[in-house]
Amino acid sequence: MPTYIVLLGPPGAGKGTQAEILAERFSLPHISSGDIFRENIKKNTELGVLAQTFMSKGELVPDDLTIAMIKERFSRPDCVRGAILDGFPRTPAQADALEVMLSGFGGKVELVPFFTATDETLIERLAGRWTCRANGHIFHVRFNPPIKEGVCDFDDSPLFQRDDDKAETVIHRIHVYRSQTAPLIEYYRKRGILAEINGSQPIEDVAAQLMGILVK
Ligand code: AMP
Repeated sequence: MPTYIVLLGPPGAGKGTQAEILAERFSLPHISSGDIFRENIKKNTELGVLAQTFMSKGELVPDDLTIAMIKERFSRPDCVRGAILDGFPRTPAQADALEVMLSGFGGKVELVPFFTATDETLIERLAGRWTCRANGHIFHVRFNPPIKEGVCDFDDSPLFQRDDDKAETVIHRIHVYRSQTAPLIEYYRKRGILAEINGSQPIEDVAAQLMGILVK
């Protein structure tokens, strides 16, 4: 039975960091819609050019573009055993589309860990976040510093601060999350698969809480 896990929560709640840990632990692909968009921007594809206009302002990329992109990702064979989804779905329309996509190969969303954190925590984390240029590995100046300043521990590529991690955009992204993504909390709660995680804890403690829910 394939295992599809959707990580839900505001930007900065720790979804990306925990997705990396889970993907490694369960040997499943980590599918981050934000990373795929950033990759397209880097390669200057048509999708990248379109997505950038929304991302740089902290807005969501329209559903049709996002769903088409994820469909393409799910068409690759590494997704048949399951996947850790980080940043998708972000609207009820995307969640409906995901359900249809997964049912196409006999899968469904099994569990939705929902990460909570206060706005102060989110802002502090995003403003101190550094991302690896090559593969999107995530570090934090205080909470998860790289061994060598400015360099990724995993692939030696340079670390950079995302444009949308700048203070004003961060606050807007939190508002966008509350108005457009938060309805998914009820969406998945109604289906009985939502599991609340205290995302304010240190990385190892969040990982331990997650593991406790997953390996029952
Ligand atoms: P993230 O890396 O998940 O914080 O995403 C960065 C940005 O990419 C978001 O602020 C959106 O502009 C865009 N994005 C990522 N995932 C989605 C999605 N599922 N739907 C719409 N826009 C998205």
